[in-house]
Amino acid sequence: LARYRVAMIGSGAWACAVVRMMAQNTKVDDPADEFVDEIRMWVYEEDYQGRKLTEVINETHENPKYFPGFHLGDNVVAVPSIEEAADGADLIVLCAPHQFVHGICKQLMGKVKPDAAAISLTKGMRVRPEGPQLISQMVRRYLNIDCAVLMGANIATDIGREQLSEAVIGYDNLDQAERFKKLFERPYFRIGLLPDPVGAEMCGTLKNIVALGAGMVDGLGLGPNSKATIIRQGLVEMRRFSRALYPSVREDTFLECCGVGDLVATCYGGRNRLVAEAWTRAHMDGSPRTFEELESELLKGQKLQGVLTSNEVQEILRKRHWEQDYPLFTTINRIINGYLTPKFVVDYEAGCTFSD
Ligand code: NAD
Ligand code: 13P
Repeated sequence: LARYRVAMIGSGAWACAVVRMMAQNTKVDDPADEFVDEIRMWVYEEDYQGRKLTEVINETHENPKYFPGFHLGDNVVAVPSIEEAADGADLIVLCAPHQFVHGICKQLMGKVKPDAAAISLTKGMRVRPEGPQLISQMVRRYLNIDCAVLMGANIATDIGREQLSEAVIGYDNLDQAERFKKLFERPYFRIGLLPDPVGAEMCGTLKNIVALGAGMVDGLGLGPNSKATIIRQGLVEMRRFSRALYPSVREDTFLECCGVGDLVATCYGGRNRLVAEAWTRAHMDGSPRTFEELESELLKGQKLQGVLTSNEVQEILRKRHWEQDYPLFTTINRIINGYLTPKFVVDYEAGCTFSD
C-alpha cells in the first residue's frame, strides 16, 4: 500500500497545534494506515536561548517559542531547509503568516512532487497592482498543484488543550479534501467539507479586520452590546466584500464555523483583538504605542494579520471607489492609520464619511 508523506510548512502557534494533531493521526498502528508516520516540519530558523530552534524542537519535541507546553509528537522532525521539508511530500500543509507566503512559494517553485496536493491554513490575502490574490490561488499558481483551505474558529492554544472546535475544508477536489480530513480530524477537532474554498478563505481573511474593531471596543471599556454591533456589521461587510470580489461565493458559507464561528472566537479570544485593545488603551491614556511595538511585546514573535489585511483590503476599496459601502472596514482602517480616534469604531457611519 502506497502511503502519503506529509509536510508542514510553518512552525508558529497554529502550525504546531495542527502538526500535533496530524502526528497523532499518522502514527497509528494499523496496516491500512494511509500516512507515513514521520512528518517533516519546516521551521524558519532562529536562535532560541543561544541554540538553534530546530535543535531544541527535535530534542524536546516542543516548540518553546511559539507553542510552549505542548508535546508535538516524536514523529515530527523540524528541518531548517524548506526544500528538504517538502521533498517527496504528497500532502503539503502550508501555515505561515500571510506576508511570508509569497517568499515561501517562490522557494518551493519546481521543488514539489507534480502530483502532490496542498492545503492552506493561512488567513490573509495578497494585493498586487492587477488585483487581489488569495493565498490558495498563489499556491496553485506557483506550485502548479491543487490547494484546498482549512478555516474555522481555531484558537491554537485551545486546540492544544483539546477543547472542542470546528473547522471546514474548503475544496475543489473532493478526494483530496477527504484525505486531508482524515489527516486532521480528532475527537475534539470536527471537520466539515465545504465546496466553497474561496468563501471560506475570504471569511478567514476578513474576520481579522473585524477583530481589530472588537479589540477597540474592549479598549474603550464598552460592553457586549457594542461588541455585538461590530460583529454583526463586520459579518455584513465580510459577506458583501467577498461576493463583490468573487460572485460565486455562497451566502451560507458565512453561517459556517469559518464565518460567524471564527468571527466570534477571534473577536473574543484572538491576538488581533488583544493587541487592538492594548493599542486603544494606550491611545486613550494619552501615551500612544504603535501596533508593531505592541505586537512584539504581547505576541513574542507571533504575527498579527489584521493590520496588514486592513491596509490590503482598503487599497482594493479605494481603487474601486467602494469605501462608502464598507463603513466599518473603512473606519477601522482610518483609526489604525491615525486619521480618526478609536471612539469612531462605534460611530462607523460618521467615520466613513470623514475625508482625509
Ligand atoms: P505565529 O504568528 O504563531 O508565528 C509566526 C511564524 O512566522 C513563526 O513560525 C516564525 O518562525 C515565522 N516567521 C517569522 N519570520 C518569518 C519569515 N521571514 N519567513 C517565514 N516565516 C517567518 O504563526 P501561526 O499562528 O501558525 O499563524 C500562521 C497563520 O495561521 C496566520 O495566517 C494566522 O492567521 C493563521 N491562524 C492562526 C491561528 C492561531 O490561533 N495562532 C489560528 C488559525 C489560523
Ligand atoms: P488571531 O490571529 O486574531 O489570534 O486569530 C486566530 C484565529 O484565526 C482563530 O481562528
